[in-house]
Amino acid sequence: MIGLRARAQTTGCCDHCTKIIVMAVLPLVLYPDPRLKQSCSQVSSFDKHLVRLLESMAETMYASNGIGLAAPQIGVQERITVVDVSPEGTALIELINPVITASHGTTPSEEGCLSIPGFRETIERATHVSVSYQDRTGNQQTLHAEGLMAICLQHEIDHINGTLFVDHLSRLKRELFKKWFAKQQNAPSRM
Ligand SMILES: [Zn+2]
Repeated sequence: MIGLRARAQTTGCCDHCTKIIVMAVLPLVLYPDPRLKQSCSQVSSFDKHLVRLLESMAETMYASNGIGLAAPQIGVQERITVVDVSPEGTALIELINPVITASHGTTPSEEGCLSIPGFRETIERATHVSVSYQDRTGNQQTLHAEGLMAICLQHEIDHINGTLFVDHLSRLKRELFKKWFAKQQNAPSRM
């Protein structure tokens, strides 16, 4: 999900430096890539490869000025997402195998997606959600969220189920989206 944060790049010179070296900003999978429509697999190995993936996902999210990123957006079909809705980019949460266990209320939500750059539209989301998930060590966690955090979690958990925010559009708005997308395809390349 796209945010409005302008984040200063942080650097370090400590025992984490090795990690910084292996972290990478990964290319984003863009609509209409079919990988964005697939439901992802459950994560069962909580190992160093997962840690490396989580760190690369966070780096990619921050570099893209995002407030959330799901694994299929970097071509990994696993149930993993990272979110950080804080203005400063200092409240990263890593969610593995997240499931929305409760939700209530409805609110209009204007959203954009890193996989559909340039398009924003308003859909309806729950105002409050409870999410159960595992952290990077495999421990079970629960999160109760509202506001932007609740919306971001719904957007990202949709991704690992193969659902994009444009799938929630009304028929009329979806037609407008298709027209907008066709126009982008025909426009000269924006490098
Ligand atoms: Zn998205």
